[in-house]
Amino acid sequence: MLENATPLQYGDVEQAAARIDGAAHRTPVLTSRTADAKAAATLFFKCENFQRMGAFKFRGAYNAIARFTEEQRRAGVLTYSSGNHAQAIALSARLAGIRAAIIMPNDAPALKVAATREYGGEVIFYDRYTENREEIGRRLAQERGMTLIPPYDHPDVIAGQGTAAKELFEEAGELDVLLVPLGGGGLLAGSALSASALSPNCKVIGVEPEAGNDGQQSLRTGQIVDIGVPQTIADGAQTSHLGQHNFAVIRRLVDDIVTVSDDQLVETMKFFAERMKMVVEPTGCLAAAAALQGVYPVAGKRVGILISGGNVDLARFAKLVA
Ligand SMILES: *Cc1c(COP(=O)(O)O)cnc(C)c1O
Repeated sequence: MLENATPLQYGDVEQAAARIDGAAHRTPVLTSRTADAKAAATLFFKCENFQRMGAFKFRGAYNAIARFTEEQRRAGVLTYSSGNHAQAIALSARLAGIRAAIIMPNDAPALKVAATREYGGEVIFYDRYTENREEIGRRLAQERGMTLIPPYDHPDVIAGQGTAAKELFEEAGELDVLLVPLGGGGLLAGSALSASALSPNCKVIGVEPEAGNDGQQSLRTGQIVDIGVPQTIADGAQTSHLGQHNFAVIRRLVDDIVTVSDDQLVETMKFFAERMKMVVEPTGCLAAAAALQGVYPVAGKRVGILISGGNVDLARFAKLVA
């Protein structure tokens, strides 16, 4: 089913790293004695909450747009997303000097709509209960000649997302375990490509919300399982199924997928705020929750933890941690 016959490789991540160099931030890798004591391990936090637009999604979006031909640039880029990918595409398009149209549900949070518009994106609303965003995307792409860059199921998006883990290994050295938040699998697949080359003995573990364990089911059954939209506070991981390109890499290179509860995400948000003075969005806490709340055994190990994003508005943050 994949139109792309050559499987993704670490070389694709290296090329993406060269493309985003100078545009994306090289985000800090933080350590915390309190976190280490809590997990009885040595933890390295790769802080993509400090990435441009507040999440790793900038990496994949920018990489995908950087590969556009002159003809593609003239018509612009199109995507569907109500979350961080929308802002990532809008910002990357603005930096590239091309047009961006973003298909969003008409009940998307006003803040996210505003942020996308601020970056210069044209917002096109649809009704998420009666309309199919992928269909609308295909139709608009055809009508306007725009290139569709979906949030995770795309080789250039995966390669771009893999640059965060690449930087982490370059800074921390080889690791025993790498824990990665999982939605549609862009970040996990990209991270696994980097681990396979830079730390071949490192176990790569995806972490998804308990309510949406489609990734875990997919890895265990060997085929993509679709579970419908999961109810969880981890809004960046409310995907109902893994992407095709993503699953091809994940089944090849990922060791396991574990789940954490919403309560464990809230505990982890509090930990980051109180102990490390960081605002991390619920989805951004997935990987850390697995290590800090004892979900995945890490004692005595050197562990990489991807903090994937920090975009949560203050009112929601306050309500969740209250
Ligand atoms: C999109 C997103 C994820 C999930 O990434 P996938 O590539 O879809 O697996 C995790 N955390 C944050 C903050 C996100 O925006």
